[in-house]
Amino acid sequence: SYRSRSAFKLLEINEKWGKFLEKNDVQAVVDLGAAPGGWSQVVAGKMGWLEDERIDGTGPSSPLEGEGYGLNQKAKDERYSSWSVKDRDLVDTFDPLSLTETPGRVGKGVIVAVDLLRMAPIPGVHTLQMDFLAPKSSDIVMSALKTSANPSGKADVIISDMAANFTGNHITDSQACLDICFSAIEFASKTLKVADKQRGLRGGTLLLKHFAHPLLQEFRRRILVPNFHVVYYIKPDSSRSESAEGYWLCRGWTGKKQVQRY
Ligand code: SAM
Repeated sequence: SYRSRSAFKLLEINEKWGKFLEKNDVQAVVDLGAAPGGWSQVVAGKMGWLEDERIDGTGPSSPLEGEGYGLNQKAKDERYSSWSVKDRDLVDTFDPLSLTETPGRVGKGVIVAVDLLRMAPIPGVHTLQMDFLAPKSSDIVMSALKTSANPSGKADVIISDMAANFTGNHITDSQACLDICFSAIEFASKTLKVADKQRGLRGGTLLLKHFAHPLLQEFRRRILVPNFHVVYYIKPDSSRSESAEGYWLCRGWTGKKQVQRY
């Protein structure tokens, strides 16, 4: 079984919107805000890492206990609210050894998952526990992306389900969401594969969670639209209809306009 209900959102989005996760096209995927790991499970499954495992990656040798496991929704929500912005520069438990490839598994493509929270292992997924908004984090993720299975160190797909703690204040919450979106796009601008018509390359994909707000609409218009072939707004059936949460599915990174915070 999947570790989160979000897994079904990703399955649904992938199924309905062009199957951007299918394994023949995809060598490297980055999952931002990955804990407890539902999206990473979906990606690992699509990329062929879980063929001989149960879908949740809990093969005989992988520990079951992790953040979010066996918790009901209320307990999970509490868990999510256990971190806060002031931890931003303190959380970095990066372990360089976690970059070593899983033995016997070279060649199936690379998945790097990042979260503030610890995540139970999933076959094929390099898990980095750190604050993605901290300045050095993108370099750390980039070095994790570069392996023998993915020598360019570039990513085909970046998926971000990162969400800040809600304060209830619209301005603060939207600003926090905008910060997250900027960190994701700055990283994407350094790592996504670029479209190249002559070589028949489509350019990388970014799936980005956000909350409906004029600040975010401006971000879409100024930053996403000029840099991707196409930007879809998606509200999955499996996401509660009353919430303002939605996703942008941005396909075909062109990198035409420099990404700059405004
Ligand atoms: N997609 C995940 C799944 O399927 O299991 C669920 C993700 S949950 C909705 C959002 C996650 O974003 C939380 O685990 C939270 O810790 C993480 N997050 C929020 N801000 C973050 C940050 N600055 N750096 C890293 N992770 C962050």
